[in-house]
Amino acid sequence: MITQSLPPGSSFSTASRRKQSERGIPRPSERRYHRPRVDLDLSPEHELFRDTVRDFAHDRVAPLAEELDRESRFPLELVGEMAELGLMGIPFPEKLGGAGGDTLSYAIAVEELTRIDSSVAITMAAHTSLGTMPIYLFGSDAQRQEWLPQLASGERLAAFGLTEADAGSDAGATRTTAELRDGQWVVSGSKMFITNAGTDITACVTITARTGEDEISNIVVPNGTPGYEISAPLHKLGWKASDTRALSFADCAVPQENLLGERGQGLRQFLEILDGGRIAVAAMGVGLAQGAYDLAHAYARERRQFGRPISSFQAIQFRLADMATEIEAGRALVWKAAWLKDNGRPFAREAAMAKLYTGELSNRVVNGALQIHGGYGYMDEFAISRLYRDQKILEIGEGTNEVQRMVIARHLGL
Ligand SMILES: Cc1cc2nc3c(=O)[nH]c(=O)nc-3n(C[C@H](O)[C@H](O)[C@H](O)COP(=O)(O)OP(=O)(O)OC[C@H]3O[C@@H](n4cnc5c(N)ncnc54)[C@H](O)[C@@H]3O)c2cc1C
Repeated sequence: MITQSLPPGSSFSTASRRKQSERGIPRPSERRYHRPRVDLDLSPEHELFRDTVRDFAHDRVAPLAEELDRESRFPLELVGEMAELGLMGIPFPEKLGGAGGDTLSYAIAVEELTRIDSSVAITMAAHTSLGTMPIYLFGSDAQRQEWLPQLASGERLAAFGLTEADAGSDAGATRTTAELRDGQWVVSGSKMFITNAGTDITACVTITARTGEDEISNIVVPNGTPGYEISAPLHKLGWKASDTRALSFADCAVPQENLLGERGQGLRQFLEILDGGRIAVAAMGVGLAQGAYDLAHAYARERRQFGRPISSFQAIQFRLADMATEIEAGRALVWKAAWLKDNGRPFAREAAMAKLYTGELSNRVVNGALQIHGGYGYMDEFAISRLYRDQKILEIGEGTNEVQRMVIARHLGL
């Protein structure tokens, strides 16, 4: 019979401890770590940080969100304010202009911004994970000194150009080429759907290019380089206030030193970048779902039909209960992936799981939240309609749902 707890000194516990000791497994009292192994509370610092971003999103972003979306206007003024708060370079060291935060803080900030407005959130997240991170991770000291202070502080923005017209999920099919001529990389080709590439404060784009037979490398191309053309902003279903462009390069020459990291390592580098970026997009899924839930919860208590608030109907209650449950699960996945990364542990599998799960959960939640709004939810004046449009890309960008399943399956040894 198994009892709930074994008294100290009982034959079972003594024997099992002796066995542990013989095998060299440290007893509890001998363990190196004396802090609890599982702690699901945010630290006071993380809580304070979350409240600061939440207040900013509520006080500064919310009043502008509808207008920015309607006018498809890039939120330049809010980027400036986020820079002042240190939100444009959360995971980069302070000595390089960043905020010196961890991945968990970054995920929390992305969630809080997305809860209110996805365009503002993706502007910050793409700049951090895709624009600045490659230079921070793979750049030489000189490249870091040249770019990081202006990027991590948010004074300027950066973009990452991987996708091409014929190279989406199959990003290794890049056709853009870079040829080394007289000490310069001469780039020719094009990129598609690149976030933050064409704003007034964009400094550069890091692109993947073929630098030889079966060889992909990353190269930094500063905005304004002759031969580098940026299209007008693309018209989109959602993320309307974020900057999305098509890029073209025609004999565009940049110094040889603009190669990022080792020649031929571009494929490995962008896979690493995407792994980290997925945590941020997964945090967007949680934030969007939370924002949709908040709206539906408030609306359900206010809207009356059949003589009472619709929140008194069990069908509505169950829907909200399901949403709240899924959001908790999604947030736990995101925090776990962030925690693994912050502890220097492998996190690619969990990042893909978090991205997949939160992409799909945000779809379910925003759909249910709009349903609770009835016909009013279909009207532009109601924020839920914007969240509904903003959601779909979370299942496509930074790797589609199918690509996440491919990544997870690979980690399962399949
Ligand atoms: C608003 C926006 C912003 C973006 N920002 C950036 C950016 O900043 N930088 C950047 O480089 N890219 C960016 N992208 C591109 C984005 O990452 C790609 O759209 C995405 O990776 C999918 O590629 P694709 O659109 O070519 O779709 P495709 O790869 O053509 O996929 C089409 C469909 O086929 C499925 N599919 C493909 N291959 C397989 C397979 N082997 N098995 C099963 N199903 C498969 C896909 O899952 C999808 O459902 C952005 C896109 C958008 C819309």
